[in-house]
Amino acid sequence: MARVLVVGAGLAGLSVAMEASVRGHHVVVLEKRSTIGGRASSESRDGFPIGYGPHFLLKKGPLHQLVRKVSKVKPSALPLRPHRLEIIGTGMMQPRKPMMDAALYRRAVKAHDPEHPAIQASDHFASWGLNDETRSRALLKSKLLVLKEGWSGLVGRLAVTLDEVGIPIETGANVVKVENHKVHLADGRHVETDVIILACGYGQAKKLIPDLPEVSFVTASTIDVALDATPLGDRHGILDMEGSMAIFDMKQIHPGIAPAGSLLSAAHFGEGKGEKRLAALSQFMDERAPGWKSHILHERQQKNVKIAPRSDRIPCGFARKSGVLLAGAWVESDHILSDGVVEVSRKAAEHIGKMPLQQ
Ligand SMILES: Cc1cc2nc3c(=O)[nH]c(=O)nc-3n(C[C@H](O)[C@H](O)[C@H](O)COP(=O)(O)OP(=O)(O)OC[C@H]3O[C@@H](n4cnc5c(N)ncnc54)[C@H](O)[C@@H]3O)c2cc1C
Repeated sequence: MARVLVVGAGLAGLSVAMEASVRGHHVVVLEKRSTIGGRASSESRDGFPIGYGPHFLLKKGPLHQLVRKVSKVKPSALPLRPHRLEIIGTGMMQPRKPMMDAALYRRAVKAHDPEHPAIQASDHFASWGLNDETRSRALLKSKLLVLKEGWSGLVGRLAVTLDEVGIPIETGANVVKVENHKVHLADGRHVETDVIILACGYGQAKKLIPDLPEVSFVTASTIDVALDATPLGDRHGILDMEGSMAIFDMKQIHPGIAPAGSLLSAAHFGEGKGEKRLAALSQFMDERAPGWKSHILHERQQKNVKIAPRSDRIPCGFARKSGVLLAGAWVESDHILSDGVVEVSRKAAEHIGKMPLQQ
């Protein structure tokens, strides 16, 4: 059994803590903020879960499987439907009429034809510009899910499991230095351990281990709003291929997610300055969700958020000589996004047993 210290209580920190504990290790999690969940958190305001940009769960992917494994009650989830997704300049992603268009669509989905506009849009948006075929096929087959409890419900389920097995999560614990089986906190304390797992996002990990290779990311600006109106009608979302912008109404996708009105989650991903991107996204919403600004109940905007790595990812054991393992979507995995996070957490937990213990 090793003593394991996990830095960060986002999805990576929570899932690696669980995987390590299952393998019999003694685990403690340190989180610098006062709340857990990182980019997967949300805040409930009048029953609306206001999150950090649109998130969709891959049906039967690693995260979905993990959540089902730890949950006594199955999460309620409903899919994003292609026949209710509009692609600007093309029409609905899955046309139902005329018959000819519907047949062409079915054929394109079967062959995953990259020339068909529905496949192009699905490739682009299902993985936020990463063109991941697994997620694209999942979107086209109605296998990208929205949870009734919101994305942060996943965090809640993992946190409950950690609590049940007695893994402590200390919030307000900001790790500022890592050296030789030891972490230093901003309040002057230090903690000695056998293995340190950095699950604090790439930017923070690079500050703690400066010789980590460079990784470039798909970045985005996001707007999340609860409205007392339904400006998208019965559409699940609107996609703009040219601008790399999308607006989803999470309440249209899963009516149980919010009490009334709509819960719009919009993202503009790609290059450029956050301020400019955010302004363009707001203008896109003015055009496609008319009047949204006069119906806002609650709102959250982000100028710049990292979604996923676009370049080569770093091996989990890159810094193993210093007693450090890495976890997150920026670490090597066969999967992407939060599914990559879960897959890497499993690998990191398996590595622990092969690490040198503190002398
Ligand atoms: C707009 C957007 C859309 C997305 N869509 C999807 C999607 O559809 N499907 C999907 O699967 N994934 C999606 N993702 C990706 C997913 O949100 C992330 O992969 C996942 O949440 C990352 O989890 P993490 O724990 O690695 O990082 P984070 O969530 O960033 O957590 C890191 C944690 O570490 C803490 N921390 C940082 N530094 C320190 C320190 N020095 N000391 C202590 N604690 C520290 C932070 O406070 C934070 O809580 C999306 C992301 C974004 C931004």
